[in-house]
Amino acid sequence: MADPTPAPTAAPSPSPDLGARFDRVRRANLATVLALVHVDGPASRSALTQATGLNRSTIAALVGELVDLGLVVESDPVGSNKVGRPSPVVTPSARFVALTVNPEIDAVTVGVVGLDGAVQHRVRRENVDVPTASDAARVAAAVIADLRASTLASDVRVVGVGVAVPGLVDAAGGVVRLAPHLGWVDEPFAAVLAAATGLPTEAANDASLGAIAEGRFGAGRGVDDLVFLNGGASGVGGGVLVAGRPMTGVGGFAGEIGHTLVNSAGRVCHCGAVGCLETEVGQAGLLAVTGLDRGQADRLDAALAGAEPGSPVAVEVRRQIDFLAVALRGVVNSFDPELIVLGGFLGSLHAADPDRLVERVRAQSLPGARDDVRIARAALGVDRLTIGAAELAFAAVLADPASAARAS
Ligand SMILES: [Zn+2]
Repeated sequence: MADPTPAPTAAPSPSPDLGARFDRVRRANLATVLALVHVDGPASRSALTQATGLNRSTIAALVGELVDLGLVVESDPVGSNKVGRPSPVVTPSARFVALTVNPEIDAVTVGVVGLDGAVQHRVRRENVDVPTASDAARVAAAVIADLRASTLASDVRVVGVGVAVPGLVDAAGGVVRLAPHLGWVDEPFAAVLAAATGLPTEAANDASLGAIAEGRFGAGRGVDDLVFLNGGASGVGGGVLVAGRPMTGVGGFAGEIGHTLVNSAGRVCHCGAVGCLETEVGQAGLLAVTGLDRGQADRLDAALAGAEPGSPVAVEVRRQIDFLAVALRGVVNSFDPELIVLGGFLGSLHAADPDRLVERVRAQSLPGARDDVRIARAALGVDRLTIGAAELAFAAVLADPASAARAS
């Protein structure tokens, strides 16, 4: 954050303090310009001048510095026939990339994402058995070495690695405290992967990263207060954006909405509690009533939408929607979000009967918070975790673009 205090006018000559303050303001302005083109897409210099309120020569200097850092490229606008000099278009560089890793029970997936937000490569390595942390790190490091040696062009610069973990991750140090389905406990996954690749590595919970991705680039684009819930094969994860920032909690563990109580007479959850959202609402139950197997989750939409009223499928959909509504009541009352985004099988549930879900949530939550809340399906699909994990790897450069000089 730039210090808003004005420079002391009594100083007889520029002091070291003033120089440092100048540097801080310049760095903050670099971050503002880079964030604009990263999130909103390519923009002309004149559009950046308007959006930031900075003057034209300042924008020109900032863009020049971002070009020198390799973070943006400038080009002449296509099809411009205006009289006079066209304003060059500033685009985040696709040659400045983040690598991403998503260890899951069935596969380890590695991605390459440009600063322009495009997923350039995704490599999925199927696991024979559920991988240990060191197995997953070894597989990921081998794929990364292969990508860097044979796929990525020699002028591509890698900022680092972002890891999306299906579990609880300590914000400081990227230690996986608990990934129940992988069976990992207190695994220093980020440090092990950093040692194996020689790249700076950060890790975070997958649903928290999904919330960032949907908030910046998906269904929640332009929304600052958003709650994201993802329904996966192994459970329900959650992430919360407050005023555009991820709500992490003190240790990075916030947003575990999958373990809120929805049924006090429910089943015992693997977390030890009774009647959690993810014990009452699950993909397995939907697959069972529709006769689909685990590899056919992409057919859930059609199977749920075509259910006859009163059929076992319709009864199960209604049961799960009503328990989901109990959890969302708590979400609305706790966070007063503008938007709730549902991903994975929760998106299929929503699509099966959106009116019932909204009606049940509105009927149970408090006036005020419930009035404006919207519920939408996630928009990014299979790219979501890759994009979210890349945002984690880009975070330091987005906060301080001058630090890009250190990228390899
Ligand atoms: Zn639980």
